[in-house]
Amino acid sequence: MATSRQTYFREYKRKELKDNPDKVRIRARSYYNDTLKNDPEFMMRKREAERNYSDKLKSEIFAILGCNCVNCGFSDKRALQIDHINGGGNQERKNRGAASQYRFILTKLEEGSKDYQILCANCNWIKRAENNEINQRKLNN
Ligand SMILES: [Zn+2]
Repeated sequence: MATSRQTYFREYKRKELKDNPDKVRIRARSYYNDTLKNDPEFMMRKREAERNYSDKLKSEIFAILGCNCVNCGFSDKRALQIDHINGGGNQERKNRGAASQYRFILTKLEEGSKDYQILCANCNWIKRAENNEINQRKLNN
């Protein structure tokens, strides 16, 4: 049960965030940069939370797309990858972290997108090579 003081504090923070979002954001960012970033325990918990979150999103994507490579049927999740059917996955990845990329894909899938499929690592690399999505010289030499 929250004490009245805790309730008051929570309401105060909520109001401040509503009235002064930029100020609160800037203060949170500098607290993060100056203090939290240097706290190894905090950073470890943060990384773990991010990993859990992106794992959760990833399994939601697998639940929609299935847990087999659409090309060869391979089913070990450790080597299954989410493939952008028309390429362009690298470009998408460049602009986002893993969790936010999964969030993006999941949203598109929930909207009915047919742009993604599950491929195993082998099939995905072969597809990329055949579509010239990777630097050919690196592979042929
Ligand atoms: Zn495959």
